[in-house]
Formats: sequence, structure tokens, C-alpha cells
Amino acid sequence: MDIKNEDRSGEIPVQGIPTAKSGVSGIVTTTKDQLFAMAQKSSLWPLSFGLACCGIEMISTYMAHHDFDRFGVVTWPSPRQSDVMIVAGTVVKKMAKPIRLLYEQMPGPKWVIAMGSCASVGGPYIRSYSVVMGVDQIIPVDIYVPGCPPRPEALMDGILKLQQKIVDDPKS
Ligand code: SF4
Repeated sequence: MDIKNEDRSGEIPVQGIPTAKSGVSGIVTTTKDQLFAMAQKSSLWPLSFGLACCGIEMISTYMAHHDFDRFGVVTWPSPRQSDVMIVAGTVVKKMAKPIRLLYEQMPGPKWVIAMGSCASVGGPYIRSYSVVMGVDQIIPVDIYVPGCPPRPEALMDGILKLQQKIVDDPKS
């Protein structure tokens, strides 16, 4: 490392977090919300459940080839410790109440990703008697991932957009 070019200004760059020089070497100032947002965005735990074909693409995203772990995303089998719900698949009317219940059991702050055209707007089942026309009819959605089905890369892009949203609009 070239010591001559080393930044000795006292500002520590923190990715995605607005910081300010304190004037004291090694000290950085930021807000509590921004600090928490940095931790939240880097350790998202999605509740693990899939509703239909999109669920297979979501499972593939967790596997070694795509490796969701490198974004700090670890699937979790309980709503009590999860902070993200990825709704992957067709939301039939019978599942509306259980999905709402699982969402309410998650502690805040929490976020929802609607994965695929079924979860976003009903998909190929538009005007079906048995399908909810988008999961945002029953719970608030933060990120929509288009496609039928979306590839794992599209879901990863959705996670990156959610991470940016968490930094831009922190909730604690
Ligand atoms: S969006 Fe397409 S792939 Fe995904 S659950 Fe609906 S029909 Fe299946």
C-alpha cells in the first residue's frame, strides 16, 4: 500500500451512509437512524415460505450458485425473528388470512417484496375467482420484482433496491 496516498483526513468512508468529518482523527459522525439502517440493510432475514412456481426461483437464489448469504440475506423459518417477507408465488384467497397473520407476527421494522407478476398483480390469473390481485391488497409492499417467473438475478436486484430504500428511508 502506498502510504503517501493514504487518506489521513479523519473521515471513515461508510458505504451508503452519509457521514461528516468530526475534525478528530478516527471519529465519524452520523445519526442513530442511519447507523441502525446500515446494520438492518446488511442482515436481512426473510421469512422462508413459497406459494407457487416463483418459490422455486427464490429457493435457487439461496443456493450456492447465486449465494444470497453474501448480501447478508439468511432465510429464517419463523416470523418472530424475520424482518423481510418475500411473497413468491400466486396469492390465492385461502392464503390471504395466513399471509396477513404471518406479517403481523413479524417484529418491526419490516419490509415486503412481491416477487413475480402473480404476487404483484395477479399474473396470468387476472380476474380469477380464487386469486388475490396482488399481495398489496392485504399487506404493504416495498419492492415489486417483475417477471413470470423472475430469475434469481431479478430477486437479487430486488434485495439491492430494498437495501437502498432502507438507507434512504430508515425506520427504527
Ligand atoms: S408469476 Fe408466473 S412463475 Fe410466478 S407464481 Fe405466478 S405463474 Fe408461477
